[in-house]
Amino acid sequence: MSEQCVFCQILNQQAPCYPVHETRYTKTFLDIFPASPGHCLIVTKDHYQDIFEATPEAISMVGHVSTLIAHTVKQELQCDGVGIFQLNGAAAGQTVFHYHMHVIPRNAGEDLAIHSRVSGDPEELRAMAERLSRRAAEMLDGVD
Ligand code: 5GP
Ligand code: ZN
Repeated sequence: MSEQCVFCQILNQQAPCYPVHETRYTKTFLDIFPASPGHCLIVTKDHYQDIFEATPEAISMVGHVSTLIAHTVKQELQCDGVGIFQLNGAAAGQTVFHYHMHVIPRNAGEDLAIHSRVSGDPEELRAMAERLSRRAAEMLDGVD
């Protein structure tokens, strides 16, 4: 736990989020500056700055959950493609220094930017989290 870390604050319910799914080791919620509608973040429950600090087990769990969240957004949103990636270090473009994976629904012809400066509409984020969490409950049934 790092007090300055916004993802730790979310994990400790000191900051709000739009939740999608939770396992023993991970929490998945919507990015509040979505690169596209349905942009999810999969974060470890323990605070690791990046892939260089995270344990192999944590990285493996995030990879497993991220794959299933990709299936979730593809099925629920019927998008053309899904980007799965993560950044390590400011030089690589990382802006929140708590290890996490991005899962971004993509549609042909749309902008491929990773980060958006425009915050999502709260009502749309709430509705999206509800849709994806329902679908994720099916897709990740039994994943602990
Ligand atoms: P990074 O640049 O570190 O790979 O990604 C960090 C992501 O966290 C960005 O896409 C940014 O929009 C998102 N983000 C920043 N602050 C918050 C927040 O308070 N809540 C949520 N849900 N996402 C955030
Ligand atoms: Zn943290």
